[in-house]
Amino acid sequence: MKRRSFLKGLCVGATILAMPRCGVKNKRTKYIITLSFDDGFKKSSIRTAEIYEKYNLSACFNVIATGHLKRFEAPDKYQEAVPKGDFGLWNELKKRGHEIMPHGYKHANKKNLPFEQAKDLILRCLDIFSDELDGFEPKEAVFNFPYNSSTRELEEWLPTQVKVFRTGGGGINPLPHKGQVKLTCVGYGPGNIEQHLEKEIEKLLSRFSGWLIYNTHGLDGEGYGPMSSEFLDKLLGRLHGMESVEIMPAGQVLFAI
Ligand SMILES: [Zn+2]
Repeated sequence: MKRRSFLKGLCVGATILAMPRCGVKNKRTKYIITLSFDDGFKKSSIRTAEIYEKYNLSACFNVIATGHLKRFEAPDKYQEAVPKGDFGLWNELKKRGHEIMPHGYKHANKKNLPFEQAKDLILRCLDIFSDELDGFEPKEAVFNFPYNSSTRELEEWLPTQVKVFRTGGGGINPLPHKGQVKLTCVGYGPGNIEQHLEKEIEKLLSRFSGWLIYNTHGLDGEGYGPMSSEFLDKLLGRLHGMESVEIMPAGQVLFAI
């Protein structure tokens, strides 16, 4: 998949309002939807990538730097006993056009940590990504806070290290624009997310335009707030067929502007 060419012509930022007819595939793009898959569950990630590829789309995976190591301790019951992918898998998926971004060193809730300790964990996470993930550049990265939990101090400091960060605060974001350093997302759990996700998409499509970032996790019962692979397949098929909608990973949306 050639993501750059795929994105060529996407109307973003203020341009979307001024030039309503420009867009991917010569269509009217008014909405961007990012399903932001956290935690890096091996089986779910492989299946998610396959489903996205069926529609020639890139998936958005946010993985834990040490999640694949034996010494990794599950931070909560939703990650217990669910095998995670390693950087062999992440490099392969990246090569296939998917986006792989950091989701913490060990999935700590940074709101509960002193600033210096939280900073140290983020820097160690970025170091591992730089060493292990082909072509990874911190300055081009989206850092996805575990639990979507950040602090004002961290939010002020983090843009000196990465391009943008994702935290909690609601699913609808301003359309992508230069200088954007903070993305917010919505999610649901611990049960099945399908109805909630449908409602959030409905809300987006009832607006004039917008960018929905929805925080997802595993498929078919894996992890916090899962959905079925059949649901994801049908959802992508439906959205991909809509002229006004683009489904894209967060980083690729921002690289396009
Ligand atoms: Zn997580």
